Amino acid sequence: MATIMHNFNSGPSILPKTVFEQASQAVLNFNNSGLSILEIGHRTPEFQAVLDEAIGLVKELMQLNEDQEVLFLHGGATTQFMQVPMNLLNDTDIAAYTETGTWAGKAIKEAKLFGHVEIAGSTKAENYTAIPKKLQVSPTASYLHITTNETIAGTQWHNIPYDCGVPLVADMSSDILSRQLDFNKFGIIYAGAQKNMGAAGVNLVVVNKNLLGKVDRTIPSILDYRNHIAEGSMLNTPPVFAIYVAMLTLRWLKQEGGLPVIEKRNQEKASLFYNTLDSLPVFKGPVAKEDRSMMNAVFVMEDAALEKEFATQAAQQGFYGIKGHRSVGGFRASMYNALPLESVQALTQFMTDFATKKG
Ligand code: PMP
Repeated sequence: MATIMHNFNSGPSILPKTVFEQASQAVLNFNNSGLSILEIGHRTPEFQAVLDEAIGLVKELMQLNEDQEVLFLHGGATTQFMQVPMNLLNDTDIAAYTETGTWAGKAIKEAKLFGHVEIAGSTKAENYTAIPKKLQVSPTASYLHITTNETIAGTQWHNIPYDCGVPLVADMSSDILSRQLDFNKFGIIYAGAQKNMGAAGVNLVVVNKNLLGKVDRTIPSILDYRNHIAEGSMLNTPPVFAIYVAMLTLRWLKQEGGLPVIEKRNQEKASLFYNTLDSLPVFKGPVAKEDRSMMNAVFVMEDAALEKEFATQAAQQGFYGIKGHRSVGGFRASMYNALPLESVQALTQFMTDFATKKG
């Protein structure tokens, strides 16, 4: 009998089984058309309906107002690291960034290519095990950038600095659509789809249109948000299959009850995980308790010599993807929207059994 797999991978990640089934069916015969989703034109009414539904579902689930434009773009969140400053930051102006880990660091590096960066808050000295509690944002900054969930460090902003006085830009790649936030208070939200929202290959970008058109530089057409808004995410051939999978995942999320329901489930999974972690002296969680991520739980072993044995046994029992990022070591359990509570119950039971044997 095949081992039951529990997918704790950090990304690409687990998606609902129904999404896998529907997506594979559409590859063979899309909406009973006798054609694959992979071979139809992107400007057909059939694909336009997919894109319209995906955009509509994002607006509905995030309760967006009329100023917020929803785009599906190529290039992963990494492209947004430069596309954001290219569209919002003049050469001589300042952008404020929070420095919370690997991903924020990459965003900062790209922003420096376009203007001045001020660090509004940093937890570098604490090895990124916390979220900054006090921010200093120049009132003249073009925007403040935060990484709402640091996928590698395992931290998450639980108090969003909505009132920072300047437009708020957020990389939500690893916690998009996992909890309720006041999404209309953000100037730009961007997220690669491959964790909570679908397959790799597409980015969700929510942009407040009033922020655009204020920089002096010439922006290449494909990188100018205004062109994508004008063309309804069809400036060029969009990543049709990735958008289709995102649409199916959004439909699933709505059917499950939307963000209030998924947030509750994510809280339940995270509480079970962290309560277990804190009860077992064999394991340690390096992140400050109040800043722990509901999505990516990072942990190490008190006796590092046991890590190999734990990893081997975990893999044998079907726990997939719990190895920590190569830059930090240890372990990481990613608990995205589609991960069932049963998988967290199985992992915490396994950890408890392991600890009992070693205790
Ligand atoms: N930001 C965060 C928070 C991420 O977790 C990742 C990917 N893991 C990225 C940005 C980069 O995304 P992509 O690989 O889609 O460019």
